[in-house]
Amino acid sequence: MQKRLVIANWKMYVSTPKEAAQWMSQLGAKGTAAFPGVDVWVAAPYTLIPGLAALKSPMVKVGAQAVSANTGAHTGEVSAAMAKSVGATFTIVGHSERRAQGESDAAVYANLQAALAQKLIPVLCVGESERDPNGAHFEYIENQLTSALRGFNKASKLVIAYEPVWAIGKSAGDAMKPADLQEMHIFIRKTLTAILGRAVADTVSIIYGGSVEAENAASLLEEGGVSGFLVGHASATPNTFIDILSLCKKTLRVKKSKK
Ligand code: PEP
Repeated sequence: MQKRLVIANWKMYVSTPKEAAQWMSQLGAKGTAAFPGVDVWVAAPYTLIPGLAALKSPMVKVGAQAVSANTGAHTGEVSAAMAKSVGATFTIVGHSERRAQGESDAAVYANLQAALAQKLIPVLCVGESERDPNGAHFEYIENQLTSALRGFNKASKLVIAYEPVWAIGKSAGDAMKPADLQEMHIFIRKTLTAILGRAVADTVSIIYGGSVEAENAASLLEEGGVSGFLVGHASATPNTFIDILSLCKKTLRVKKSKK
C-alpha cells in the first residue's frame, strides 16, 4: 500500500510538557488504527523530546527541529548525538527559518552528515524564496539538493521536505497551487535520481510544507503528487492536525478504490 508521511513541526507553538502531553493524548484518543497508511512524526523543541519519547507512543515518531554538527564550545547548540540521547529518531535539517538566521549550505551539509552519523533520519528542507518567471527557482532547488546530498550514504533513509519560503506561515489560500507542486515534485524526483541513482531516489519520500491546512491538503496530495506534509502552524492544535491526517487517510482510500 502507498504510504503517507505527515510531520508536525511544532516550532515553538507547543512549548510546555503539559501542552505536549495534551496534544499526544488527543491524538492517542483516536487509537492506533485511526490512520492506517499514514506515518505521523513530531518535530519537537529539544525540551519536550525526552517526555514525548518516554510516552513510547505506537502512533508517533519523535524528532528534533535541528541538530548541530558542532561539539564542545558552542553555547546553546545541540548536537545530533545529544538529540539522539534523549530519544530523537529523526531531525529536520536546513529549515528555512534557520537558513534565514545564517545557516549556510555548508552548515546544512555538515548537519545532515552529523544526523546520519547518529542514525537520525534527516528531513532535508529545500525551498526557494520566490518563484522566478524564467524558472530560476528550479536551479536553486537543484543546487540546494546537490550541495546537501554530496557523498550521501546511500544505505541511509532520507526525507525531502519541499518548502517554498514564500508559502510558509500563511493560510491555505496562499500555499502553492497543486499544479505547480506537481511540476516541482517531478523535478525534485528527477534531481534526486541524478544525484543518488534511481534505486535510492525511489526510496526517498518527498513531502510538501507551506501553509498546509485541512482546506488544501487533499488537492496538494492528489494533484501535487507528494507523499505527505511538513505541517507548521496547523500542527499546533491537535484537532486541526488530526483533520489533515484524516484527509491523508481518505485520499489513500480514493486511490485504492480507483484501481
Ligand atoms: C514550516 O515552517 O515548516 C511550515 C510548514 O510552516 P507552516 O505550515 O506554518 O507554513
